[in-house]
Amino acid sequence: MTGRRALAHDLRAAVEGEVRFDAGARALYATDASNFRQPPIGVVVPRTLDDVVAVHRVCREHGAPIVNRGCGTSLSGETVNVVVVIDHSKYLTAIGDPDLGSQTVLVEPGAINEKVNRRTAKSGLIFGPDPSTHAYCTIGGNVGNNSCGTHSVQSQFYGHGPRTSDNVHSLEVVTYDGERFWVGPTSEEEVEATGGRRGEIYRALRSLAQRHEAQIRERFPSPDVLPRRVSGYNLDELLPENGFNLARALVGTEGTCATVLQARLYLTPAMPERALVVLAYDDICSAADQVEWILAHRPIGLEAMDRKLFRDEQLKNMHPTALSELPAAEEGGAWLLVEFGADTRGEADERARAFAADARKHGVGEGELSVFDDPEQEQALWQVREGGLAATAFPPQGGDYWPGWEDSAVPPPRLGDYLRDLKRVYAKHGLDGAFYGHVGQGCMHSRIDFDLRSREGIATYRAFIEEAADLCVSYGGSLSGEHGDGQQRAELLPRQYGEELVEAFREFKRIWDPDWKMNPGKVVDANRLDENLKLGAGYAPWRPEVRFGYPEDGGDFAHATVRCVGVGKCRKPDGVDVMCPSFMVTRDEQHTTRGRARLLFEMLEGEIVEDGWQSDEVMEALDLCLSCKGCTNDCPVGVDMPTYKAEFLHHRWKRRVRPRHAYAFGLIDQVARVASLQPELVNLLGRTPLFKLAAGMTRHRATPTFAPLTLQQWFRARGGTRNPRGRKVVLFPDTFNNRFHTDVGVACVEAIEAAGWQVAMPQGHVCCGRPLYDYGFLGLAERYLRRNLEQLREWYGAGVPIVGMEPSCLAVFKDELRKLLPDDEDAKRLAESSYHFAEFFREFELEPPRLERRALLWGHCHQKATGGVDAERELLEQMGVETKEVKAGCCGLAGSWGFEAGHYDVSLAAGEQGLLPRVREASRLDLVVANGFSCKTQIEQGGTGRRALHIAQLMQMAREHGPGGVRGDRPERAYDEVRPQPSRLRRARRLAVPAVAVGACIHAGRSRLRR
Ligand SMILES: Cc1cc2nc3c(=O)[nH]c(=O)nc-3n(C[C@H](O)[C@H](O)[C@H](O)COP(=O)(O)OP(=O)(O)OC[C@H]3O[C@@H](n4cnc5c(N)ncnc54)[C@H](O)[C@@H]3O)c2cc1C
Ligand code: SF4
Ligand code: SF4
Repeated sequence: MTGRRALAHDLRAAVEGEVRFDAGARALYATDASNFRQPPIGVVVPRTLDDVVAVHRVCREHGAPIVNRGCGTSLSGETVNVVVVIDHSKYLTAIGDPDLGSQTVLVEPGAINEKVNRRTAKSGLIFGPDPSTHAYCTIGGNVGNNSCGTHSVQSQFYGHGPRTSDNVHSLEVVTYDGERFWVGPTSEEEVEATGGRRGEIYRALRSLAQRHEAQIRERFPSPDVLPRRVSGYNLDELLPENGFNLARALVGTEGTCATVLQARLYLTPAMPERALVVLAYDDICSAADQVEWILAHRPIGLEAMDRKLFRDEQLKNMHPTALSELPAAEEGGAWLLVEFGADTRGEADERARAFAADARKHGVGEGELSVFDDPEQEQALWQVREGGLAATAFPPQGGDYWPGWEDSAVPPPRLGDYLRDLKRVYAKHGLDGAFYGHVGQGCMHSRIDFDLRSREGIATYRAFIEEAADLCVSYGGSLSGEHGDGQQRAELLPRQYGEELVEAFREFKRIWDPDWKMNPGKVVDANRLDENLKLGAGYAPWRPEVRFGYPEDGGDFAHATVRCVGVGKCRKPDGVDVMCPSFMVTRDEQHTTRGRARLLFEMLEGEIVEDGWQSDEVMEALDLCLSCKGCTNDCPVGVDMPTYKAEFLHHRWKRRVRPRHAYAFGLIDQVARVASLQPELVNLLGRTPLFKLAAGMTRHRATPTFAPLTLQQWFRARGGTRNPRGRKVVLFPDTFNNRFHTDVGVACVEAIEAAGWQVAMPQGHVCCGRPLYDYGFLGLAERYLRRNLEQLREWYGAGVPIVGMEPSCLAVFKDELRKLLPDDEDAKRLAESSYHFAEFFREFELEPPRLERRALLWGHCHQKATGGVDAERELLEQMGVETKEVKAGCCGLAGSWGFEAGHYDVSLAAGEQGLLPRVREASRLDLVVANGFSCKTQIEQGGTGRRALHIAQLMQMAREHGPGGVRGDRPERAYDEVRPQPSRLRRARRLAVPAVAVGACIHAGRSRLRR
């Protein structure tokens, strides 16, 4: 057995958790949010704290190094290494009840920062440091990096201090050599009395602190002067006046000294009522100059952002409403966001008003200041600021922007001058980047357009960082103000601390980790900032021919695979976004958008993932991607996994026989076309296990039934539109509403006609090809699109709107069409003429009928990604429907994905993340509105006892039953089976065919017997 295999074997024997040493896992963990890449030896996902201890024991027996990992959002390369990765984020997530006496809470390292705060806020307390990644980063990671956040100002003024280190009470740790113990402030008596390895550590650290006391005092300014000193090890915590605090000394060691098993954290008063004041300034430097008088008002947050960030978010259409609400939005050069908190609304507002009055005295003019007291508005504005790092990574005007010098910090009063000088360093090296950050604590962020793909570019990157580091130190600053040193800044530490203290750091590490096996090559004796680069001068990925156009990536699929900057938003465990439903269920890195993007990146690198389009690792990760398009909308850098998945499947299956379900579901339009000849017969067969088996469908689901009459047939039979003189609109007869939910189709036709328009409906075989993408039939998909362009040209060419009933089908015209035929002018025209059903009502200001009911609204994921569901909500409100929108991931069915054998459990679990429980909880008098075929099916098949209606069916109800709608429970029951029926003649003809066939068979059988 080789060393790696033996290690994996022994780890599997020692732990309950998951041990993955395969290529897929190594690819998943080879990068983080930094510029670096180092494929690990393997990955362990421990289930228990004892597992973590066991990993240390086994690794030590094998001499294997270790790195700990939470959410992996580190920006300095702290979590990439050639080591065994311990991923704490999946199982080690316990959060205790807050101890109100000591105002602390006990948590495991994988607990998510925001989840801790949600738990403790119920007792009026929070954990102060909240990084922008607070919704998914872990406490282990916060401790590892000594993180800070927007509300570090709050914990500085009202709690224990700005950084995580200031807010740590004690830690339970395990060392590489297996010593497990609690650390915190340690008395002289305890140091003396403790024996064994632990006592050795105590005494060695005390000696270290005593020998370097003078230098420590000189080079470690207090948090009052430099609140964000995050670089280096916290040797100041070993000083007697700080209580020889071993816990705080370990915070920020980036997993290079010991592993944290549990943390007891200090909590800060939550001050839940908030008011936000936003001030506009000419530029970021003059905004930063204001910090001192603003801090005198003791805000709980003081952040800044400049026009470049504003412009990037505006061009990306991120937070459009929030951006328009900023004061002097047209001409402002930079904004300060000043937040006030209190226990009561009145008090928070009063603080904001007093501050605003003072701001006038400090020269802030009319129109340069806005006060916000609506929590939703405030939240939206914070998202503008927190979205900074991601929004500036690939700005729409071009260029790739990277971390590297993205979190330096100086004493806050000196920040304005520091920025003026720093801008000169940018200009000298021909570099650019937006500025935004935590001005209240002197910490400024910026992604920079380094060229990390050429030798010259990398030389400039180094020269710039070295000069910027010297500048920062000359201002009495810290190289890192929150993200840590890792590999990015570690080699620069002598500039900040001098050689003596760097030698003391080395000794500090050696005391904890004499074998030098904890995250080696980071912080001390670190790898250089220009080695192990993810791209690097040698970056030459495989660039295969691809079917999609990738217009945002200059047509380069390889660029699309570096788009993921590792922010981790796709690892949100729950919440209002769609992204990423599969991770929400499995909590597994490989089922995040990020994980999939990384595997595709590695596929093109070809080093770990070697089989190109035939890679089973990539296939496995993509298998649970629901192609819900959640990432295309929610991922801050627009990672477009459904497109990459379709591309991958196309190449993987090219000229090969695909799995059964690919034909049954991918070609559903053709299957349905044939089935519509004998729908009754096919519906009978559809119930049988054999049918499901043949279609590759799960036996747990009912097969949707084909309508007895198609919508097109009904429309023809009624003689076309009833409004021949109205303005013309095309209703696109998608496969689902044409051949299954024809009741919805009828309701749509009638709703549009009732609004005075003339409906045109293309006849013959019409299909957008939606399901083809899910199975990678891209050649066919392109043919379908070209046929759509032909079929619909007479209308979109004449400016007639094309309206979709099924959101996922209409989304093809808004999304896939543009990506598959990026240069086709007709495609652009069709895309511009296409409207989701409610969008059409809004755009042309149509009057809907009144319906005074309450409804639960569920928006289809594809609609959310191609225009959103605001139009739906507004239309319902216009009708008089009191609407509550359910926002919680994806329905889980996602087209045919949840019908496939093998996806059923995850599909249902995704529905249970939000949609299904909300529907069950809803009053049975309320309506449930969902326009998507799959969402409706999931609600029906998900044990809710309810059936959702299309918004057009609500209009139908209003017309047929008046504004009160259908009375009583389950109002949708009135529309349970109202699909149009065929005429007697058509039915008789249909029955005749099988009758003749059966007759012929009997006759043939008899003849045989006679013979
Ligand atoms: C878009 C973006 C915005 C960000 N904004 C902020 C911000 O506002 N403020 C801020 O401070 N940071 C910010 N960061 C950096 C990062 O999110 C924080 O450092 C965060 O705390 C890291 O948490 P994580 O769970 O991702 O940890 P990881 O990145 O997984 O790990 C961080 C460090 O902790 C160590 N570690 C993890 N678990 C343990 C353990 N159990 N024992 C010992 N060591 C451990 C790791 O080895 C590593 O060195 C941002 C990053 C991104 C990408
Ligand atoms: S896929 Fe998007 S959301 Fe997920 S980590 Fe990457 S950049 Fe962030
Ligand atoms: S399409 Fe949906 S499931 Fe797939 S990666 Fe994106 S968010 Fe996740």
